[in-house]
Amino acid sequence: MFPRCNVGIFVKTQCGTSSHYQNELSLVKLFDCNRDISGHLHSLRLPTGQNQTKCDTQTEGQLISRRAGVFDYNRNLSICPKHRYDLGIYWRPRTTCQFPGHVGKGKPVRTVTSPMSYGIWCTQTQLVHAGSGICRKCIDVFKEVVPDITVYQTGLNSITDSNDSEKEEAAEERSFNFTSDSSDNFYNLRQRTNVSYHNELDE
Ligand SMILES: [Zn+2]
Ligand SMILES: [Zn+2]
Repeated sequence: MFPRCNVGIFVKTQCGTSSHYQNELSLVKLFDCNRDISGHLHSLRLPTGQNQTKCDTQTEGQLISRRAGVFDYNRNLSICPKHRYDLGIYWRPRTTCQFPGHVGKGKPVRTVTSPMSYGIWCTQTQLVHAGSGICRKCIDVFKEVVPDITVYQTGLNSITDSNDSEKEEAAEERSFNFTSDSSDNFYNLRQRTNVSYHNELDE
């Protein structure tokens, strides 16, 4: 049996390999998930591009984390190939409206963005994956339960900011002599880039 990955604990489904990348047989960390997601986001009509405040999701690892319901991105979570691709670039939306409590035959007319997904999670305690469809009626309900989407937009961006690798590298250069506790944690995170995942599996 395939070793259980950290993300699998959240999504509660079996770990395994992916038919899309059959040569990938080991767990990796979310920060190592850096495949290009722009085509995937584009196909779902989610905003793409370099602008962090406008782009729905910056990295493959963040996308997977949010779809696992881990909005507070922890880049050190391990992930198996099955969960990586099922929740990431090979995730496909259902054809029906996925908003909690949807009734009727209304077809999706819009895409649930990451901030919307986060807002639904915080107010309805239900996970609706970014990229899912939502019908016109449910958009109205959504606007009632999440009257100010910018709260969740800002919330997600601040989580993302603190983990963004480019900013981290830039900050690392700027704060070379920085010696606070937070800075120590910061460097511990960076050092973990080269850990061997196989050691952790053996434990
Ligand atoms: Zn897994
Ligand atoms: Zn609906």
